[in-house]
Amino acid sequence: MTPAAFDYYAPSSLKEALGLLSSYKEDGKLLAGGQSLVPLMKLRLARPKVLIDLGRIPDLNTIAERADSIVIGALTTHAQLESSDLLRTRCPLLPQTATTIGDVQVRNQGTLGGSLAHSDPAGDLPASIMALGAQIKAVSAKGERWIKAEDFFLGLLTTALEPDEILTQVKIPVSNRIKTAYLKAAQKAAGFAVAGVAVCLDLAHDGTCRDIALGVTGVTDKAYRAHKVEQKLRGKKLDSRLLHEAAAEVTDSIDVNEDINGSKEYRSHLARVYTIRAILAAQG
Ligand SMILES: Cc1cc2nc3c(=O)[nH]c(=O)nc-3n(C[C@H](O)[C@H](O)[C@H](O)COP(=O)(O)OP(=O)(O)OC[C@H]3O[C@@H](n4cnc5c(N)ncnc54)[C@H](O)[C@@H]3O)c2cc1C
Repeated sequence: MTPAAFDYYAPSSLKEALGLLSSYKEDGKLLAGGQSLVPLMKLRLARPKVLIDLGRIPDLNTIAERADSIVIGALTTHAQLESSDLLRTRCPLLPQTATTIGDVQVRNQGTLGGSLAHSDPAGDLPASIMALGAQIKAVSAKGERWIKAEDFFLGLLTTALEPDEILTQVKIPVSNRIKTAYLKAAQKAAGFAVAGVAVCLDLAHDGTCRDIALGVTGVTDKAYRAHKVEQKLRGKKLDSRLLHEAAAEVTDSIDVNEDINGSKEYRSHLARVYTIRAILAAQG
């Protein structure tokens, strides 16, 4: 299948890209790795009149450490996340999550910014970004703002980004105390999460849970934080009975998806099982 006709721009600066985006408004669409947008265009579910390719804008694919955070450019590919020594040492959850995405070709092209901006309900990185308490930088011709990951994903393929904004960076707080893990039940053909859980866990020496953050994906129309589970675990020793009791609440008040990959009951079951497994993996 071929996409409908479109004009193509490859701006060489962020300023130029922002100018094009405000000129073409809803007719324009940003292109990063093209791994989600191009398939939609081929199916003609997306028909942008103008594509604005971010690929030639310098410095949007860097990974840098600041005082107590790591700042990652939006165009950083999944493969770069996987292979970054800095991330492996300071924020292993991101390489671990990126490794589970699709296949090598997808990981070589797909980007962190594209994954977040696309807000696929079965995408892997939104769950980890949420568990990590990241902030997302949105830039427009009018200025810039930071959006908390928890406020960023609004629903199916919908985020807090305004039509004239470009996601440029993701900032992740880092701490040596945090143990992390991401585990998913993957859809066999493409690798997307039927249910996926990311955990950031801060354990005291005696095994008491000082703090925990859980990002869940694949289960409903967007990634979410499992606050109810977190509340049950904070300040307590994580024995098997408590983990099972807490995980039972992972889909409470959540409108669980139902599709060819799983019924509501099956997905809820997977979410509970993967919550427990991910916490145990982080502890281990
Ligand atoms: C076969 C296959 C298997 C896959 N398997 C998985 C998987 O297992 N797990 C998973 O999580 N994902 C999977 N993906 C999706 C993949 O991770 C994509 O890379 C990702 O969803 C989109 O990133 P992209 O850079 O390709 O974005 P694009 O496709 O270029 O863009 C996606 C959307 O985001 C917008 N956008 C892109 N960049 C920005 C920006 N900087 N600011 C604002 N808006 C922006 C675009 O306008 C578009 O609407 C798979 C894809 C394929 C084709």
